[in-house]
Amino acid sequence: MNIAVIGTGYVGLVTGSCFSEMGINVTCVDIDSQKIQDLKQGIISIYEPGLEELVKRNSKAGRLKFTTDLASSLDSADVVFSAVGTPPDEDGSADMRYVWEVARTIGQNIHNYVLVVTKSTVPVGTALQVKAIIKEELLKRNVDVPFDVASNPEFLKEGTAIKDFMGPDRIVVGVESEKAKKLMERLYKPFTLNNYRTIYTDISSAEMIKYAANAMLATRISFMNDIANLCRIVGADVNMVRRGIGSDSRIGSKFLYPGCGYGGSCFPKDIKALIKLAANNDYNMQVLQAVEAVNENQKTILFRKLLALFGGNLKDKTIALWGLAFKPETDDMREAPALILIESLLQAGCEVRVYDPAAMEESRRRLGDRVYHAIDMYDAVLDADALCLLTEWKEFRLPAWAVIKKTMRTPVVVDGRNIYDKEEMESYEFVYDCI
Ligand code: NAD
Repeated sequence: MNIAVIGTGYVGLVTGSCFSEMGINVTCVDIDSQKIQDLKQGIISIYEPGLEELVKRNSKAGRLKFTTDLASSLDSADVVFSAVGTPPDEDGSADMRYVWEVARTIGQNIHNYVLVVTKSTVPVGTALQVKAIIKEELLKRNVDVPFDVASNPEFLKEGTAIKDFMGPDRIVVGVESEKAKKLMERLYKPFTLNNYRTIYTDISSAEMIKYAANAMLATRISFMNDIANLCRIVGADVNMVRRGIGSDSRIGSKFLYPGCGYGGSCFPKDIKALIKLAANNDYNMQVLQAVEAVNENQKTILFRKLLALFGGNLKDKTIALWGLAFKPETDDMREAPALILIESLLQAGCEVRVYDPAAMEESRRRLGDRVYHAIDMYDAVLDADALCLLTEWKEFRLPAWAVIKKTMRTPVVVDGRNIYDKEEMESYEFVYDCI
């Protein structure tokens, strides 16, 4: 089977390399010629465990190819996946320009049947609009080439993307023709052999499943942050509360961790897009508006804690940050809580020293020399007045506190992910605060 995957970002590159690992011939297409040049040489611009080996192995085997030329890769493709970005537009809705552009190019270039599958996270109605655009282009060419559209949203998580794609909880496929269903069944057969569940739906429902899934997960996070803030006021321990409710099988323990707010390339934009989709249809998503408001507030909590600890004035203080990426095992800093904290600290007149195991290059690109980029986690805390933990990377779990205590100017630790033990921290005579 031959497929083309358009867009070689997190989703497209993982999709393409995992399908090729299953013996399918894959052509990955991107408009970014530098990215394609790099990929041809096995150079990957994102940090994702296991991805580089997969790309190199399958490229060498001749099953995985890279090109900027979508038109020519269409001729041999049975299925075309569109995995281009859908960033937030100014009003919060999904910016669909890349999706429409891909649809137009497909309509302008297909000569034989192809199944066009949208993998990007897109508002309900997108696949039908993709279909209309392709038809319009075919009409302009005065040709009648058969094609189908389908929706196959992606649930991979950055940091465990390969594992998630290879062993998904479920595969969701929205189709409107038997032929499209058969093609998707065939394509996913190597995965379903391992008994992974495939859920076939109509196209609109598949599109909605992706947004609803992210909205539910974000809701759990904001809910727990709200509970954590109330725990603090009334004298309860949110860590105990989390364990107490997470052991209820109706609730489950995942995504119940309070912290300094959710970020990343998906939750913030998808919540906004769903609220906007509802508003465009005269419906008010009240729960999700609250989810967003709680999250915005939570992203400022570490700064407020620092202000309180230093008597309302942070001028000339040196603050160390551990963790810049929006979560561990990725270098992705899109909408990361660290960015909001750094801006507030700089505005308050602080010197900021940062360290992250993967995101230093990305941080340098974004922040330049406005902050000090430390060599390692211990360099970051040198002469610091306070240390803030923002991303719960494994290497931050068991630091040498005795060493750190000696190198910091004042022993203050603000734990944005609740990974340290209060009693242990106090035994080292740290002033310790958490969520
Ligand atoms: P990304 O920004 O990392 O990559 C998108 C790629 O598409 C870029 O390389 C860009 O150059 C390319 N592109 C844009 N227009 C193109 C065109 N006309 N032809 C060819 N290539 C083109 O995006 P991503 O993080 O991979 O996300 C893609 C989609 O998947 C989004 O809708 C996102 O919401 C969704 N999604 C992302 C994740 C995630 O964890 N990143 C998970 C699930 C779903």
